[in-house]
Amino acid sequence: GRMIETSLKEEDIHVEGSLRPKQLDDYIGQSKIKENLKIYIEAAKKRQDPLDHVLFYGPPGLGKTTLAGIIANEMQVNMKVTSGPAIEKPGEMAAILNNLKEGDVLFVDEIHRLNRQVEEVLYPAMEDYAIDIMIGKGQAARSIRLDLPKFTLIGATTRAGLLTAPLRDRFGIIHRLEFYTPEELQQIILHSARILEAPVDFDGAMEMARRSRGTPRLANRILKRVRDFAQVKYDGVITKDVAVTALNLMDVDPMGLDHIDRNLLLTMVNKFQGGPVGLDTLAAAIGEDAGTIEDVYEPYLIKNGFLNRTPRGRVVTDLVYHHFGLEIPG
Ligand code: ADP
Repeated sequence: GRMIETSLKEEDIHVEGSLRPKQLDDYIGQSKIKENLKIYIEAAKKRQDPLDHVLFYGPPGLGKTTLAGIIANEMQVNMKVTSGPAIEKPGEMAAILNNLKEGDVLFVDEIHRLNRQVEEVLYPAMEDYAIDIMIGKGQAARSIRLDLPKFTLIGATTRAGLLTAPLRDRFGIIHRLEFYTPEELQQIILHSARILEAPVDFDGAMEMARRSRGTPRLANRILKRVRDFAQVKYDGVITKDVAVTALNLMDVDPMGLDHIDRNLLLTMVNKFQGGPVGLDTLAAAIGEDAGTIEDVYEPYLIKNGFLNRTPRGRVVTDLVYHHFGLEIPG
């Protein structure tokens, strides 16, 4: 599989569990979000209220689920986890809500993928801590209101714009997660390395950090793969040399671009004169899903100045020609 693949695998669930920070103070980076959350959490606790509903958005693997777990932990409540595509019927959502205990956190990953009827159950639940249930049929049908315990909904999505306005409006706290700096990822890698008992020096950690696409999930995955490499081919210590050799073998280049990133950029250069090219055309040309390009690959390429979005389509920058040692067309 590709390195930046973002769906959770068994192995990740197990290892990520143990690598996940449990307290706000142990959560590296995203300092603005942390500062704000600290205040909101303290205020809610003082009032003995549940925290207002929270929406986190941003590319996969940046720590949205981890933050939700930290919030539940700091509020000293339980967290129930589900996801948009997992709930098919309004009754399933109603049952989940009805089973929450006072103050609980309900984490809904990929919340933009809830279908409309299921989403509508959330409106009164979020606003009034209640659900409306229809009983009877035809002429006799009427709706009764059922009170719920007070709870906190935490939603996660790749782009806030994917949510319907009525759902988005019901979140009191909305935060976008940013890509991490290499220094922050280096800290995360050193911390994970201690837990995994994988010996790594500072330069080795920095090399892996630079090639992790600003993404903690990827940093942890790269650490595990490079550790395998260090154990088999070297004396076990991950130095800069070991990291460089292993990451080159894994086809991750010095900027963290992998073969799909490179294919995307080089296709734009070679087939579309560097753009502008429309998203769907580009997706068809490289055989990837347009939504995945938009949510997973593009944000990092745009953030790092490889790609621009214009009204007429995507355009590569001079950095792309420079990065691949190509001549910039006149
Ligand atoms: P998302 O929900 O945004 O897809 P996750 O919360 O599942 O991302 O994070 C992916 C992994 O990255 C987790 O296993 C966690 O250990 C690690 N991680 C994420 N953010 C941080 C952070 N700020 N500090 C340390 N580790 C982090």
